[in-house]
Amino acid sequence: MLRFAPSPTGDMHIGNLRVALFNYICSIQREEPLLIRIEDTDKERNIPGKENEIFDILALFGIEYQEQQFQSNNLRFHRAMALQLLQDKKAFNCFCSAEALKSKREAAYEGRCENLAPEEVIDNPLPFTIRLKKPTHSISVSDIIKGESTFAPDEIDSFILMSTDKYPTYNFACAVDDMLADVSLIIRGEDHLSDTPKQIAIHEALGYTKKVEYAHLPILLEGSLSIKWLLEEGFLPEAISNYLILLGNKTPLEIFSLKEAIKWFDLKSLSKDPVHFDIDKLRSINREHLRGLDPKELSRYVGFADEEIGNLAKLFLEETTTLKELRAKVGAVFEPKEVPQEYQEGFDILRDLTRKAPHFDDYESYKAYLIQHSGLNEENLLKPLRLLLSGAEHGPEMNDLYTHIKNYIKEVAK
Ligand code: GLU
Repeated sequence: MLRFAPSPTGDMHIGNLRVALFNYICSIQREEPLLIRIEDTDKERNIPGKENEIFDILALFGIEYQEQQFQSNNLRFHRAMALQLLQDKKAFNCFCSAEALKSKREAAYEGRCENLAPEEVIDNPLPFTIRLKKPTHSISVSDIIKGESTFAPDEIDSFILMSTDKYPTYNFACAVDDMLADVSLIIRGEDHLSDTPKQIAIHEALGYTKKVEYAHLPILLEGSLSIKWLLEEGFLPEAISNYLILLGNKTPLEIFSLKEAIKWFDLKSLSKDPVHFDIDKLRSINREHLRGLDPKELSRYVGFADEEIGNLAKLFLEETTTLKELRAKVGAVFEPKEVPQEYQEGFDILRDLTRKAPHFDDYESYKAYLIQHSGLNEENLLKPLRLLLSGAEHGPEMNDLYTHIKNYIKEVAK
């Protein structure tokens, strides 16, 4: 089993999506199921409805999974296992308040409550946490990307498993849930590397001996950009996935689909160093994916249902990189035009002529007709005509433009 374990505490961002994509790819490569576990035990930081946003984004990106869980439903297991650890003397009750610990400016917990007499525990009215006893040996994490890191007992410390409110900490809930789900490979961000020895210590204390593999992904700088925002800006899910798989990776080609990436993706090819999110690179990848779209599909993306409008949109890809920009360009062809004063007269003449003109199959005949009836010559006709046909002073070749809008010409000139 592999798992993606997002917290519903904010917008899903590109850092989360990268983790989700890699888990998905590896689950298919290894022929193991994928679990989506919503880590909703941090009651204060949860935002209602965020889990649905996560599921919607996973669906949009084609990230299929076999199981879905809410961590809060496992609360009884977290509590039962905490009790088990207390009974086995692998964990202890700690009555130190957060303030007391803070005021002593303790960098690390000093194990003050570890050796309390039983009556000091049983009769103690104070709120308490449950801490795991500091391990007596170093713990090594062997990571597919980063190699081996060893953590001394002091780095792991007697950390908290259950808070005073009887809810598990992230490390405890995560370690228990991964164990219950029989997770074999954990792919997550490097920010969790220091959690891993703690989670291994929990597994050891619970007598769980399965050798879990780990892959901690190098930090993604500027990785907090929200997926919702990128989609609203008009980046295609295919392009975003492509870029996130390409980033800090050695790939056989630059433009590819998620399906193709499954054939060659290898966690071992990922760079160990932090990677930078570069929106300009994403723009150029997005343009290539837009170019590759079937014209009919592209037409739908820009709000029409005609192949010709898809082809028209493709012409504008020379000067745009997102669907939002494309929609604006295609929209400007059909919207009322704003015309600079100097071209207004010519524009009005050409618009009236076009409204009355017969159908011309090619641009040259249409232009010849306009020249013949407008009194404008080849040169001073061009700008007002371009404004009439596209709403802009610069853009694609007139010939190409005409080819794709000729069937709509009366509407364009309305
Ligand atoms: N809920 C944690 C997060 O979103 C999960 C980390 C993990 O994969 O263990 O960062």
